[in-house]
Amino acid sequence: MQKNLPFQRDKLLKDLSTFEIGGRASYFVEVSFADQLALILPFLAREKIPYLILGKGSNVLFDDRGYNGVVILNKIISYQKKEDVLSVGAGYSFSLLGMRTARESLSGLEFAAGIPATVGGALFMNAGAGADETCNPLVEVTYVTEEGEKLSLSKKNLNFGYRFSSFQQMKGAIVGAKFRLTPSEEAQKRVQAIISRRLLTQPCKERSAGCVFRNPASGPSAGWLIDQAGLKGRAIGGAEVSTIHANFIINRGNATAHDVLSLAELIQRVVKEKSGVLLEREIHYIPFSSYVSR
Ligand SMILES: Cc1cc2nc3c(=O)[nH]c(=O)nc-3n(C[C@H](O)[C@H](O)[C@H](O)COP(=O)(O)OP(=O)(O)OC[C@H]3O[C@@H](n4cnc5c(N)ncnc54)[C@H](O)[C@@H]3O)c2cc1C
Repeated sequence: MQKNLPFQRDKLLKDLSTFEIGGRASYFVEVSFADQLALILPFLAREKIPYLILGKGSNVLFDDRGYNGVVILNKIISYQKKEDVLSVGAGYSFSLLGMRTARESLSGLEFAAGIPATVGGALFMNAGAGADETCNPLVEVTYVTEEGEKLSLSKKNLNFGYRFSSFQQMKGAIVGAKFRLTPSEEAQKRVQAIISRRLLTQPCKERSAGCVFRNPASGPSAGWLIDQAGLKGRAIGGAEVSTIHANFIINRGNATAHDVLSLAELIQRVVKEKSGVLLEREIHYIPFSSYVSR
């Protein structure tokens, strides 16, 4: 490992994921600057060492055995505003960004309030709620490649779709983004309404990774299909289908990744039998051994 960077051994991954599940990563490092990634990534790629860029860990399910590679925690948290254009580090809290911009009377990211992500993770997943998606107010992304090159990628050269972005097919790390927002005195009111709604409709205080399955391209939502299949409250080991929102699996305290995956398979099987729809998983399972990080 590179001597000048503070790598740690055997980091417990359950402490780094909102599911609170997962064994230990062989190596762990926090990065606060893009230049650190420009040093680390070429080294790891050259040595063929598996790595994973981690944000808030709110869309990942770590293996019970841990991760045989390097987990790189993104802590690049810069925030600069120039009129209605915002430049923000990829490790900045996405939820905080939604609340802060609304407080500054800027509209466009209100939906981010309550999504426990980083800006990088939100861009990677094109996180969204209703018709709002992370890519909507986006202007450009700063990206570090495995060659250590820093690129400015304008939105028109990137592809986004429902919980999809070009980054899912690229190797490297999102280090920052620019968003263009619109002045609005109503933004803060919208944030309050969004948070109140989330608290009523999602198990926000439980350990989860948000929606387990993607919504089908047409027809009813995944949550509705799971609810109709009578699966709310169904449990395997410590994993349970939330009784508040059927598309959430919650960790009752002692769930393993195996419990969550078994419950997700059971949901897929029962929903397919009852409605003919095969649900596709949205959360990213990170196996113990994988050269390609995702
Ligand atoms: C209570 C709750 C509510 C949620 N509500 C929503 C919602 O309303 N809408 C929604 O879309 N999602 C929601 N989610 C899911 C989750 O918050 C999003 O998928 C989010 O985008 C994940 O961001 P993260 O920073 O936690 O990414 P992580 O979980 O840390 O990582 C997810 C993936 O992104 C990659 N990644 C992360 N950062 C970078 C980076 N800088 N560069 C390259 N790759 C990177 C990782 O390698 C991994 O493959 C919810 C989750 C929870 C727990």
